[in-house]
Amino acid sequence: MDVVLFGPPGAGKGTQARLLAARLGVPQIATGDMMRAERASGSELGRRFDAYMGRGLLVPDELVLELLEERLRRPDARAGAIFDGFPRTVAQAEALDALLARLGRRLAAVVSLDVGLDAIVERAAGRRVCEACGQTYHVRYNPPPSTGRCGACGADRLVRRDDDAEPVVRRRYEEYVAKTEPVLAYYEARGLLRRVDGTGSVDVVTRSIGEVIDAVRSAR
Ligand code: ADP
Ligand code: ADP
Ligand code: ZN
Repeated sequence: MDVVLFGPPGAGKGTQARLLAARLGVPQIATGDMMRAERASGSELGRRFDAYMGRGLLVPDELVLELLEERLRRPDARAGAIFDGFPRTVAQAEALDALLARLGRRLAAVVSLDVGLDAIVERAAGRRVCEACGQTYHVRYNPPPSTGRCGACGADRLVRRDDDAEPVVRRRYEEYVAKTEPVLAYYEARGLLRRVDGTGSVDVVTRSIGEVIDAVRSAR
C-alpha cells in the first residue's frame, strides 16, 4: 500500500509516518530525513542541500526526485511505502504518479494533517531529533523516557534541528503555503485526499489516521 502523509512543517508527519509504516509493514520514505543524512555525511550532494534547507526553502525538484526514485526502487519498498514530506510541489506529485505507474502501482490515499501556524511554531520549537536513529521527540508533548536519552535506540544525542528556529519555521510555512498547499487540490481532484485533524495528542491523531486507512483498505 502506498500512502502519502501530508501537512505543513511540524504537523506531525514524521511521528505518524513511523507508526503507520510499522503497522503496514512498509518503509517510511522521508525526503527530509534522507537529505539531513546526506548533509551529515558531508558529501558533495549534501552541501548542495545546505543552502536551501538551512534557510527554510524547498530543495529543487530535480534533486529531490533523483533521491526519491533511487529510494523507491530498493527492494524493501516493493510492496508500498509511506511518503513523509514528499511530494511538496505539484511537479513532484505528478512525478510520483508516473513513477508508481511504471512500477504498476498507484497511491491508495493522501492523508493530510490539519494543524494551524501557532501549533506548528510550538511543535517545532520543542522538537528534538535523535541523531543516531531519527526518532523524534517533543520536550513537552512527547518527551523521551529518560531525559536526554533516546527511547528507541538508547543514544544520548538528542538535538534541535537548525531549521527549527522560529524565523526559519515561519519561512518554511510560507514555502508550504506558496508551493505545497496547491498539491492538496491536485489530490482532491483525483479523489485521494483524506483530511485528518492533527491538533489532538499523538495517540488521538494515530487513531484518526488508522480509521481513515481502515476505510480505504476495505473499499479497495
Ligand atoms: P518538516 O516536515 O518539518 O518541514 P522535513 O524534514 O520534511 O521537515 O523537511 C526539511 C527541509 O528539507 C525542508 O524545509 C526542505 O528544505 C527540504 N525538503 C524535504 N523534503 C522536500 C521535498 N519533497 N521537496 C523539497 N524540499 C524538501
Ligand atoms: P513533521 O514531520 O510534520 O515536521 P514531526 O512528526 O517531526 O512533524 O512533529 C513535530 C514536533 O511535534 C515533534 O517534536 C513531535 O514530537 C511533536 N508532535 C508530533 N505530533 C504531535 C501531536 N499530535 N501533539 C503534540 N506534539 C506533536
Ligand atoms: Zn535514537
